[in-house]
Amino acid sequence: MENWLTKRSRLTPNRVAVTYQDKELTFLEVNQQALRVAGRIAAIGDKNDKIAVIMTNNLSGYLVIMALQQLGQTIVFINRRLSVDEVNYQLQDAGVTLLLTDDAYDGVLAVNRQLKFSSLPEGKKIQPMAEFPDEFVTSIMYTSGTSNRPKGVMQTFHNHFMSAVGSALNLGVTAEDSWLAVVPIFHISGFSILMRSLIYGMHVILIDKFDAEKINHMLVHDTITTMSVVPVMLQQLVGQLSEHANYNRQFRAMLLGGGPTNRITLEKAQSHQIPIIQSYGMTETASQVVALDAASITTKLGSVGKPLFPVSVEIRNTQGQPATTGNIWIKTPTLTVGYLNNSQQLSNNIVDGWFNTEDFGYFDADGFLYIQGREGDMISSGGENIFPDEVESAYANMPGLDAIVVFGVADDKWGSVPVAVVSDTHVSARQLRQFGREKLAHYKVPQHFYVAKQWYRTASGKVQRRYFAADVPELEELQ
Ligand code: ATP
Ligand code: MG
Repeated sequence: MENWLTKRSRLTPNRVAVTYQDKELTFLEVNQQALRVAGRIAAIGDKNDKIAVIMTNNLSGYLVIMALQQLGQTIVFINRRLSVDEVNYQLQDAGVTLLLTDDAYDGVLAVNRQLKFSSLPEGKKIQPMAEFPDEFVTSIMYTSGTSNRPKGVMQTFHNHFMSAVGSALNLGVTAEDSWLAVVPIFHISGFSILMRSLIYGMHVILIDKFDAEKINHMLVHDTITTMSVVPVMLQQLVGQLSEHANYNRQFRAMLLGGGPTNRITLEKAQSHQIPIIQSYGMTETASQVVALDAASITTKLGSVGKPLFPVSVEIRNTQGQPATTGNIWIKTPTLTVGYLNNSQQLSNNIVDGWFNTEDFGYFDADGFLYIQGREGDMISSGGENIFPDEVESAYANMPGLDAIVVFGVADDKWGSVPVAVVSDTHVSARQLRQFGREKLAHYKVPQHFYVAKQWYRTASGKVQRRYFAADVPELEELQ
């Protein structure tokens, strides 16, 4: 296919492409400026470089991304919030030879050449890529690291194109659309918005810091039509929104995904008539592969919807046979071509083109998918399966409790039992147990409650259970 930015700046040159704070660029301007930045990058690097980027959602970061695509360079995205050791691991894993960072980043890393965006030298004129080849890996993006060490996922132009098409066939596209991007661009939730923008000709509003009050103000007063959120963001938005406030009339999709959302938050969003489009996907599938449609927002609260047009989903048991509840298997043109430096790991999870996500879920009678959780988080207790997400969700509106995380610990009698770590001590273990028993089957109620020493979340706000579990021996048990 022809270079998407060249094509887009010819199709709709004067349409606004991107806004950041008080700056606005049209597609024509993005094209011109991206080529200029590309020239500056070309002055210090060459085709053989492996280039990584550490950025926030701002204009300079955006232009660097656009520039690297113009140069035909694969972009290695590094999570801005990782520690120096974690970043060094990813730089080494990806064989990075040149690292570009936004100006505010001051970590010093183990890489030959590290430069801030603003210290790129004067550039030369470059010839942009004529084509964006289908099979070219344009982005390498690390998974969130929720369950284990992050894996580098290779995503092709074809992956991103099919992802954008699948989303458009569900949500529709108009020339008036604008998408608020506060989810990080170094994750697929954010980067996919930039790719949709080029493909649809859509305006992106970049925001580098999540501030519920500011964003609510924008959604009430501006003509934004779409926003992507992870569950913690939605929770904060509905928590901050005043009782009778509603978003502007043009706002038609709050795309929610990346992790489980508790029912209370979904119901609160519904009471403000926020059009929540729940979705399900992962870095490996270049964003959402299953999503709700606008017509089912109110009737199917809690479901992540139906597979998008290019996607097929099956539920299979651990032997790989069709089942009503079990592993979610996916067939999609958006599936990664592989993990970096570990081709075996992906092929182990693929059978006849179907990918085992290692998530658990089921379809209802109308063909709507529900996610139960990750196979690795499942607690097998005396023959029953317990998903921590369900237990945590049941506690979501307990007065005096801020946050809870549930996981299994080994038990002589039951094999494994659920225990919980809570973020504060305003409630007693007895109250927690009693609350749980009112909401959940007996065996799902955590047997012990501990007080957190630290709260572990990924950059997109997902709870990292493995770290809590490792802390348990040192934690104080709540009485
Ligand atoms: P890692 O693979 O490193 O453990 P991760 O799986 O969290 O990290 P991502 O690719 O960002 O990395 O997240 C995809 C996963 O998030 C899915 O496999 C699923 O477990 C979970 N997820 C995504 N959407 C939803 C959803 N709507 N409800 C529940 N879980 C979801
Ligand atoms: Mg994963």
